[in-house]
Amino acid sequence: MKYISTRGQAPILSFEEAMLTGLARDGGLYVPQDIPQFSAADIAALAGLPYEEVAFRVMWPFVGESFTEEEFREIIAKAYASFGHAARAPMVQLGANHFLLELFHGPTLAFKDFAMQLIGQLFQVALQRRGEKVTIVGATSGDTGSAAIEAFRGLDAVDVFILFPHGRVSEVQRRQMTTPSEANVHALALDGDFDDCQARLKDMFNHFEFRDEVSLAGVNSINWARVLAQIVYYFFAATALGAPHRPVSFTVPTGNFGDIFAGFIARRMGLPIEQLVIATNQNDILHRAMTSGGYVTSGVAPSISPSMDIQVSSNFERALFYAYGRDGNAVAQLMDELKGQGGFTISQGALQSLRETFASGRASEEETLTTIARLCAETGEILCPHSAVGVKVAEEHLDATPMITLATAHPAKFPDAVEAATGQRPPLPNRMADLYERSERVTRVANDLAALEALIKERRAS
Ligand SMILES: *Cc1c(COP(=O)(O)O)cnc(C)c1O
Repeated sequence: MKYISTRGQAPILSFEEAMLTGLARDGGLYVPQDIPQFSAADIAALAGLPYEEVAFRVMWPFVGESFTEEEFREIIAKAYASFGHAARAPMVQLGANHFLLELFHGPTLAFKDFAMQLIGQLFQVALQRRGEKVTIVGATSGDTGSAAIEAFRGLDAVDVFILFPHGRVSEVQRRQMTTPSEANVHALALDGDFDDCQARLKDMFNHFEFRDEVSLAGVNSINWARVLAQIVYYFFAATALGAPHRPVSFTVPTGNFGDIFAGFIARRMGLPIEQLVIATNQNDILHRAMTSGGYVTSGVAPSISPSMDIQVSSNFERALFYAYGRDGNAVAQLMDELKGQGGFTISQGALQSLRETFASGRASEEETLTTIARLCAETGEILCPHSAVGVKVAEEHLDATPMITLATAHPAKFPDAVEAATGQRPPLPNRMADLYERSERVTRVANDLAALEALIKERRAS
């Protein structure tokens, strides 16, 4: 399988190269040249298999040339061994036809672990074989950073730097990033919001001299391998509820559009997904874009679901690429308008194509809190605020097709919001109960590209 850029001007790469590169050199994102097709029989055969076996079958057609079958099976086994639940992605029922897919049983308690644990293993095997080292720089609204640090801590071939918005992540998220003591881990608190972190990261990738000097690699959800790992649980959950014989719908709490874009790929591979619903918090640029056709940024308003406090939703570019009939020039033009004017208008044809695939909705802060309280009372299920945004929007889209809402984080990762809604403070799982006692290590940094690059060069050298 080869990978092409959404802006059409970057070299075509193998899976391994696309994974190690992250962002394409023309500023675009890598997507597979063709999307593998699964027949109804292929899909039916997944029902009842262990998560790791489903993962192998779903991902193998995308990676085939880069790893041997045996290597890839071992990578998958290691990636999910640290999960705290035998099913990896268990499902619980919320209502007659509404299910919750719990994606928070990984080591940092958010769905990001599904991709990041896999990427950690993939990088290690690929870099060892090449005898190379890389500098990973990631931007995070909280969960990507903790998941990346957990996946890469202590690996010799990798230095990992994580930029997070100072004062805008939860205490659990911050501590998961600042308490690992390994020398290759560097947590950087940036004076700005998540979009600033992401913008500086993109600047580093577009500064080729720096990029090449430090062998910059990216593990943000712009990295195709992240999306790939997330396709698996759509198949896993859908077949558990009767696909391909019975279609299902999904609602996905969305920020950077990576998780839901994986659902889009699953659908294109042949999985019968009827509705694919974008759920946003008050930072609702995606919902507004789907409603009006105008993708216009308006500044981030911090919310109780901080991992979705995003206005520049990177992976939406991938959805636009398909909506514009894989026209890289058209995508490049839209992205120029976004950078220059803070927004763009989606063409009628592309908007229609997006609406054929995606529905959307939003939840206010108040609605998020009342959803947490109501679900606790009605079902006993304690939702994190992100998952609650999903549940609220999913409830507006219920019909005869089973609806699966993705629960993206464990409630103990956001205890303040959960306590405000339910009066109960959700405890951390035993395996991380001492998190509040460990000492922290963090560097405060200005929102300044040159200063950041200098710091990274110095730290990685030492
Ligand atoms: C990252 C994250 C999201 C948003 O996922 P995207 O792939 O960025 O759309 C939602 N909920 C939680 C808890 C997250 O960590």
